[in-house]
Amino acid sequence: MRRVSHWVFDLDDTLYPPTVGLTSQQRLHMLGYVQKVYDLPPDEAEIVRRRLVAEHGTTLRGLMITKEIDPVDFLSWEDDLDLSALRPNPPLRDALARLDGPRYVFTNGSAGYGRRVLGRLGLDDLFSGVWGIDSGDYLPKPWLEAYERCFDAFGIEPASGIFVDDSAVNLRVPKDLGMATVLVNPDDPYDHDHVDVRVPDLLTWLRS
Ligand SMILES: [Mg+2]
Repeated sequence: MRRVSHWVFDLDDTLYPPTVGLTSQQRLHMLGYVQKVYDLPPDEAEIVRRRLVAEHGTTLRGLMITKEIDPVDFLSWEDDLDLSALRPNPPLRDALARLDGPRYVFTNGSAGYGRRVLGRLGLDDLFSGVWGIDSGDYLPKPWLEAYERCFDAFGIEPASGIFVDDSAVNLRVPKDLGMATVLVNPDDPYDHDHVDVRVPDLLTWLRS
């Protein structure tokens, strides 16, 4: 692999495994929010939630556009998330620490949430920057402008960068911008032309 000088990682289900269950907590919250705002029963709200994600990238962005909700109110629930299942991961820490070049997190959660999760994982001091959805006008991955803002802010050079995410859709723009792409996901059954490397878990790959 060519020389990599900037490492950009997604947070949820990438720097910790999906089995931790945080994403299901988040999904439940978002479903509840859609239910409330759209005044729908759970099954119909779930259909709306999926449509919002498909059309706008995230539930939050979709609710901001279709219902003009306050993003600060939407994200305030992150303070109530139970992070107790997140534990320090010394082997992952060692593997990340050995990487040459600065490491960054780009999450569709808030930057504060990103830093809290990194803290729980014992990784916070290894990252030079955390970009959250609140860092750039609530524009999420996979929107091109969201990546451009993040990369501009941190001085990330895509041509020598690598983007690591558990969601294939979030790797399309990084690939188009010239980055190497790594999909960390044991359950994605599809072939993706824009994915350079696919791995079931981050640590195994970093060690190799
Ligand atoms: Mg993720």
